[in-house]
Amino acid sequence: MARYVYNFGDGNKDLKDLLGGKGANLAEMTRMGLPVPPGFTITTLACREYLRTGSVPAGLFEEVEEHLREIQARMDKRLGDRGDPLLLSVRSGGKFSMPGMMESILDIGLTDTSVLGLAARSGDARFAWDSYRRLIQMFGRTVFDVPAEDFESELTGARAHAGVTSDAELGVAELQDLVQAYKKVFHAHTGRDFPQAPHEQLYLAITAVFSSWNAERAVLYRRQEHIPQDLGTAVNVMAMVFGNRGADSGTGVAFTRDPATGRRGVYGDYLTNAQGEDVVAGIRNTVGLHELATIDPRSYRQLLSVMERLEQRYRDLCDIEFTIENGKLWMLQTRVGKRTPAAAFVIAAQLVDEGTITLDEALQRVTGEQLAQLMFPSFDPVALPTPLTTGVPASPGAAVGAIVLDSAAAAAATGPVILVRRETNPDDLAGMIAAQGILTSRGGKTSHAAVVARGMGKTCVCGAEELVIDTEAETVTVHGTVLRAGDIVSLDGTTGRVYPGAVPVHPSPVVRYFEGELSPANDPLLAAVQRLMTHADHTRRLGVHANADTATDAERARRFGATGIGLCRTEHMFLGDRRTLVERLILADDDTERDAALAALLPLQRADFIDLFAAMDGLPVTIRLIDPPLHEFLPALEDLTARVAGAEALGQDPGRDAVLLTAVRRMHEQNPMLGLRGVRLGLVIPGLFAMQVRAIAEAAARRVADGGDPRPEIMVPLVGAVQELETVRAEAEAVLAGIGGAPPIRIGTMIEVPRAALTAGEIAQSAQFFSFGTNDLTQMTWAFSRDDVEGAFFSRYLSLGIFTASPFETIDTTGVGELIQIAVARGRAARPDLTIGVCGEHGGDPASVRFFHRTGLDYVSCSPFRIPIARLEAGRAATADATTSDSR
Ligand code: PEP
Ligand code: MG
Repeated sequence: MARYVYNFGDGNKDLKDLLGGKGANLAEMTRMGLPVPPGFTITTLACREYLRTGSVPAGLFEEVEEHLREIQARMDKRLGDRGDPLLLSVRSGGKFSMPGMMESILDIGLTDTSVLGLAARSGDARFAWDSYRRLIQMFGRTVFDVPAEDFESELTGARAHAGVTSDAELGVAELQDLVQAYKKVFHAHTGRDFPQAPHEQLYLAITAVFSSWNAERAVLYRRQEHIPQDLGTAVNVMAMVFGNRGADSGTGVAFTRDPATGRRGVYGDYLTNAQGEDVVAGIRNTVGLHELATIDPRSYRQLLSVMERLEQRYRDLCDIEFTIENGKLWMLQTRVGKRTPAAAFVIAAQLVDEGTITLDEALQRVTGEQLAQLMFPSFDPVALPTPLTTGVPASPGAAVGAIVLDSAAAAAATGPVILVRRETNPDDLAGMIAAQGILTSRGGKTSHAAVVARGMGKTCVCGAEELVIDTEAETVTVHGTVLRAGDIVSLDGTTGRVYPGAVPVHPSPVVRYFEGELSPANDPLLAAVQRLMTHADHTRRLGVHANADTATDAERARRFGATGIGLCRTEHMFLGDRRTLVERLILADDDTERDAALAALLPLQRADFIDLFAAMDGLPVTIRLIDPPLHEFLPALEDLTARVAGAEALGQDPGRDAVLLTAVRRMHEQNPMLGLRGVRLGLVIPGLFAMQVRAIAEAAARRVADGGDPRPEIMVPLVGAVQELETVRAEAEAVLAGIGGAPPIRIGTMIEVPRAALTAGEIAQSAQFFSFGTNDLTQMTWAFSRDDVEGAFFSRYLSLGIFTASPFETIDTTGVGELIQIAVARGRAARPDLTIGVCGEHGGDPASVRFFHRTGLDYVSCSPFRIPIARLEAGRAATADATTSDSR
């Protein structure tokens, strides 16, 4: 028969799966000989059995009784005894901490008779009756779902009747009346009397804690925190000790280091003559833990020595809950403590310095998400007003500026501005560059605004659907509040919140360190970041490249540690003044016109590449040939239609607009993402790809002539069949053969169409490298449009648990990931020296980076601001086998 109950002394800290975090840690402390009240843990297995079958497993309560006898013997008290009753606490505790999500019941064992025994024995009738009324309230609510308000209104009534304002002022007689009133409430809702058999109380409490695993808020919390739903909770049954027994009693929390900054020292709070709930409820003010040194020096010294032993045992920051009952210290809980991202880095480095952990282990104590948080500018949390609305947090950070509703105004603005648009398109680039932050009312995390903003490291909130943007009236309306162009707003790209007015912002010192503006000397946080990043670089196998299209981005990427460009999106070089040249190309009626347009574009492209190669001298620069549908470079159909109609109505000649309109209509597609784009474009517009290849090779030759070391690579987008690649390749090689002075240029392809992943073996015959375009691969594998769906149904899918995270953010390892694995295997089988990277947005996402490491990719490529995060995660992935510490 399975064993369902463990005495605290029987377990240890590594049994979290079975005993839950709290139970495993109580067991560890007991084994260490620390003063833990006697108790036992009912395993998560018992809970899972209960949840599966709807009844407690056979034999469970017999086991409970056996272990209860031991507690009684050790405490020399009996549960429910009329003279000197033992009281028990029954607390939930799953593998991962879920603060406040499940149930606990205290003071089990009090009945109409044992309450008298407790009163007599403790010499404190008030304490006994107050404990009894708390039990009925907690038990009624938790075990029988009696509405909390019904107890609350009795309590309020009792206070009013006694003419007092706090519960603490209620006297014995009033509390006795309250117990009677509570029992009536209990009876009214349950149709039965409050149980007077203490063992029945215990069994019912245990069952209620099992059931609380599936409480709605607990389910929701687990979904949010990515905690599996099927683990179940353990139940800890422990002898009650009391901190509210007078001036020589009290309760407190302690941290072995400061969880906010990581600094060493004694941190925590203490409250004399109180129980844990009083601290949580904030009824009275606590004092700093160091004051315990004067209040109760003996317990303080003992606590310090316990703290030191716990740190040594856990090799990490511990947090502790303790109670002092009549001068005797009791440890009620410990765990590896939660901490801020800054403290995580500082503590990890300290523990290495102290010789407690290795650098490999230190890497496991920090995460890419924590580093990301340290890299955002942030709003002063005390200064936050009520948000106007909340959108999709698309690119983190904090931005403050005046509202502008079009990009020209943003580009022309002299002060800081926030660009507010329904959605953005390539036309908005200048405005986006000029703005402090971008706010849109449509689109999700891979919308144009989001991708471009992340690339720039610029704050962006998108899909704020409550915003009504009126560009004519130059207003933005939300819930009846009308904001005008020029009004100041503040965007939090980390939470998606939009605030009215200017909220004070702190720049990130960690970014300033990566930029080379701040020295890590004398700054414990920056020194810790430097130390761990250096070790991550030393251990990682994955290369980290940048998605960058300009020399400025490339330079920053290099400062942040990129060793190459993994994706240069050349379409970004076709905007601004060059648009008219692109229009000429699209409108060309014959070869001569087309060649003239291409010839005009050539020197401009070449100049771009020269700058890029200079910024990345000596490192690979992967240049992707033009990808998006050409109509993206033409005016919008609606605008053109309106302009032409307007001119015609006035009897004027619409001129060039009429020609453009015809072209736009001709090129109009129902599903442009599945239309004429990528390699398809190169195959139908003669000379377009050849011009780009020539610009790349000539730029490289120029750099060589100037003493540089350019390392260009040419990447073909959206390939689905090897024949597409072969055709482009033949054309490119012919161009390259005619240009002297350039270094050898490798030609490869993106893998972003499911067919390309499946036929990777064939495609590898013609490709020297692969780069997974996981944005398109996700879009095409799931068959949902990356431009449209995030706002439409992602939140519903997340709440239903169909997604645990947006698949555009974190790679869907089971679906899209399988295609990647297939492509890696088939590609490498065909060409063992194939270089394989990824350049979709997932390249800078911590969980995805770990997946790419496991899948055996050579590098990830991501936006410049995410380079440090990818470096850290690649290092973590490489050292993942080292001992882990889970403070979740
Ligand atoms: C991709 O599809 O993942 C990719 C990098 O290309 P783009 O986002 O430009 O389509
Ligand atoms: Mg793509």
